[in-house]
Amino acid sequence: MRAVLMGPPGAGKGTQAQVLAQGAGVPQIATGDILRRAREEGTPLGRTAQSYMDKGELVPDEVMVGIIEERLRQDDARQGFLLDGFPRTVPQAEALDRLLGTLGMPLDAVLLLEVPEEAIVRRLSGRRTCPNCGRSYHVENDPPPAEDRCGTCGAELVTRTDDKPDTVLSRLEVYRRSTAPLKTYYEQHGLLRQVAGVGPVEEVTARLRAALRA
Ligand code: ADP
Ligand code: AMP
Repeated sequence: MRAVLMGPPGAGKGTQAQVLAQGAGVPQIATGDILRRAREEGTPLGRTAQSYMDKGELVPDEVMVGIIEERLRQDDARQGFLLDGFPRTVPQAEALDRLLGTLGMPLDAVLLLEVPEEAIVRRLSGRRTCPNCGRSYHVENDPPPAEDRCGTCGAELVTRTDDKPDTVLSRLEVYRRSTAPLKTYYEQHGLLRQVAGVGPVEEVTARLRAALRA
């Protein structure tokens, strides 16, 4: 599997990508997780990314393309990969096509998770995230087994600073303006598969698996 999972913030990309990638035995490559780790570690990349992330804006394309190139050149990506959160702009998608062309590993599919904006706002306002393994929970829909501890790795859960209501609205606007045009881009490349992202997590996973097989 060499696929992209895209969709608005809060569509369930991280939740689904973790299950799909594990099932397929390929790495889940989540650019948001890579940036948050760099921010935690206080690296130059993390410091650059922080100011954009806090405002809900996109980190510049040239920075993101450099990150994804370095990651996709690692050995484990030769077996396949699932990209989560990249590409987010048409120039990023064009750079990805060029890179995958050079590496001889073109995409098989682009899955677009569709969720109405009202549901997104509810999801993000209740999201709790594991800063260690990246797993997402939701205070009502998918609570952690022990209060404020990740059920997978035991780390203390956090509320992402960019899940504040004002920042969520900015992120949705950025999605509409910069990322939604990728739908046409991938439609024209014959790769787009649209999947309803509403309903129980397991049902969405089954729909995504069916779309990957189609
Ligand atoms: P993304 O990676 O697209 O930003 P997440 O996977 O972090 O989204 O999910 C956003 C929030 O929505 C999390 O709190 C998660 O627990 C919750 N969530 C994920 N899938 C569903 C679903 N099918 N129904 C309800 N809530 C969901
Ligand atoms: P995410 O965890 O995917 O919601 O991403 C969190 C934040 O990281 C985004 O709001 C952006 O600021 C930044 N980010 C993640 N991926 C990208 C990308 N492909 N291009 C630009 N910015 C990104």
